Parts: sequence; structure tokens; C-alpha cells
Amino acid sequence: MKINCNYLNLDENYLFQKVNERISSFRIKNKKSKIINLGIGDVKFPLPMSVIESCVKSSYEMASRDTFRGYGPNGGYSFLKEKIQEDYNSKGIHVELDEIFISDGAKSDMSNILDIFSRDNVCLIPDPVYPVYLDTNIMDGRKIIFLNASEENNFLPEPYTELKADIIYICSPNNPTGAVYSKLQLKKWVDFANNRNAVILFDSAYESFISEEELPKSIFEIEGSNSCAIEFKSFSKAAGFTGMRCGYTIIFKELIRENISLNSLWDRRHSTKFNGVPYIIQRAAEASLSSKGKEDYKNILLYYKENARIISDVLADISIEFFGGKNSPYIWLKCPNKMKSWDFFDYLLENLNIVGTPGSGFGKNGEYYFRLSCFGEREEILAASKKLKDMPF
Ligand code: PLP
Repeated sequence: MKINCNYLNLDENYLFQKVNERISSFRIKNKKSKIINLGIGDVKFPLPMSVIESCVKSSYEMASRDTFRGYGPNGGYSFLKEKIQEDYNSKGIHVELDEIFISDGAKSDMSNILDIFSRDNVCLIPDPVYPVYLDTNIMDGRKIIFLNASEENNFLPEPYTELKADIIYICSPNNPTGAVYSKLQLKKWVDFANNRNAVILFDSAYESFISEEELPKSIFEIEGSNSCAIEFKSFSKAAGFTGMRCGYTIIFKELIRENISLNSLWDRRHSTKFNGVPYIIQRAAEASLSSKGKEDYKNILLYYKENARIISDVLADISIEFFGGKNSPYIWLKCPNKMKSWDFFDYLLENLNIVGTPGSGFGKNGEYYFRLSCFGEREEILAASKKLKDMPF
């Protein structure tokens, strides 16, 4: 028996595990200190009643012989797919129901999609970015090249002629920088991918935070993208489903490589290795896309955006340079006094009892930066702002 040795090339711990370990050892030494956690990007707001009522109703359906459901259709129930289809239609994008695949979230889909690609492909990963892209490709032993995102390119790197990549990751709005590609910039990526026969894996988990109308919420708003992109969406941040688990992937049938439709490969993979999202959860996701659900979530999003505004104002007041926060729940700040990001983490934890995420955990270009999440309760955000204001920098 041989293990997958590629796992030995991974960093010992996943970033948030490392953060939690530091918090735990701080708690052991400082039992009385109350920590404000603006680190992990988990939502705090409870689910609205429109979603809960749907969960209750569908749970009762499971108690009756006539309405009980066992295994569901492989790619998801059509009641949910039709709602997703309507949502795309409202953006002027027509997607067929069999181009939508319901799953238990974007993290699983973005990792599992690699099953349908040869390990010989070269993959291109922005730096900094959500660490799952890197780790899952290391696990496969795939060749990885990085694309530098920095202040010089507003954290939005563009393709260039000498670039040779087959699988291209784009995260827009970006986690952690909060940067969002414009339509013009995405068009450059789409043209690049079509010319090279590459595939773009487009992660739009934070699409619902985009406030500026002209910014694209889906790669399929860009001409030519149907034949080169796969889009990953999540109910986690948009609908507070981090604990419910639901997301979806869109693959148009026009996406053909080596004369094979990637839609059919993914369908085969999905139906073989996955047995679907629970009926109750799919009903809940459907409710989140109803008109009542959309109204409820509009208010929750406004709440998080106001959190972002509060933190942004304080950082501006104390002259700490920052990015994001406008079209994203994350604020990406430059550590004061050229501190390294884990040093700033320790400084904030020990002196202000505030937890954030060190930028270096998202890639080498994240060194000297720090991510604050705006998903907290208002009270916590206000308390953190007050403490940050008094920071002696
Ligand atoms: N994509 C990005 C960029 C994320 O930041 C996250 C979670 O934080 C995910 C995907 C995971 O989404 P899900 O909860 O649907 O698995």
C-alpha cells in the first residue's frame, strides 16, 4: 500500500486551524479576556423565518407516506434549479436546467472538479487567494504557477502573452483582498482562455456583496465565457448557509475540450460520487431565492455592509491603508509599521484581544497584510472599532 505522497507537500495545517490554535493558547493564559473574532469568514446572522418556515414544512413532508422523499435527482431538484435559472435570466444569461448542478457547497465543488482534469495540466492560482485552490492542486501533484496580485495591479492581475496555463482560478470578489474584476478585465481572461483552450474556474462565492452596478456578478455576463468557464456559487455567504451546506456549479454544454463536453464529464462524476443535498436544505435554498427571501437577505447584507463601513471609517481615521470592504465582506489592510502579518496577528490578539487573519496565510504576496471580516455582530464591530481607534500606531 502506498499513500498519496503529495499530501506531504502540504503545509502542516490549514490556515484557520493555525489561527484557532493561537486563540486556544491565548485563552489558556488569559482566561478573563473576551476575544472579538473578526478572523474566520463565518456568518453570524440567524436564518430568516422565510427560510425556516420552508425547512419546517419540508420536514413535515418527510413524515408522510405521500410526500416522503428518498434519493433526489442527481444534479438537484428542479424546483431549486428553476429558481437559479430565473436568477441568471434576470442578469440576461440563459442557462438550461441540466447545466446547473446542486451541491453541498463551493468548497467541495471547487475541489472535486479537479477529478475531471488530467494531472498533467498546469494550473494558475492568484496570490493571495482562498487557500483551498492551492492545497487541492498540491494534493493532486499538479504543476502550479502563481499570478501576482499586488497594490500595483490593484490586486487584479491580468493575463499576458507568455503565460502558459490550462486551469485558471479567478475569485471575484476576491477573498481576501475584496478586489472585483471589471467586465473589460474579465473579457481579457475569457479571450486568453479560449485562445489557449484553457478552462477558467470562476469562484463567485461573494457575488452578493457587489455594490457597484457595473461590476460583473457572473463570468457568464462576459461574451465567449460559455465555452471556457465553469462558475461556482454558494448559498453560504449570500444566504447564511455555512451550516446548512448548499451551492451549485454551472457548466455550459458548449464547454468542450478534446471533443468531450465537460458538462457530461462533471455529470458523470457528480452522479457517481455524490448522492445529493438533502431535500430539506434544497427547499430552504429555494426559499432564500423567493421574493420574500430576497427581501430578508437584502436587509442582512445591508447589516454586514454597514459593519464594513464602520471598520473602514476607523481605519481611515487612524491612517491605516486598506482595500476592499466595498464590494466584499472583507477588509484587507496593510499592517502598520511594516509588521509581518503573523506579528500583527499576535499584537492584535495580545493587546486588543481582536482576532483577524494574517495575510501570509493566503499566499506569499499576503505578507505584511491582514484580513478583517465584517460578518460579526454589530456590538462586536463597534467594540473592535473602539479598540482599533486607540491603537498606538
Ligand atoms: N470560495 C471562497 C472564495 C470562500 O472564501 C469560501 C468560504 O469561505 C468558499 C468558496 C466556500 O464556500 P462554501 O461554504 O459554499 O463551501
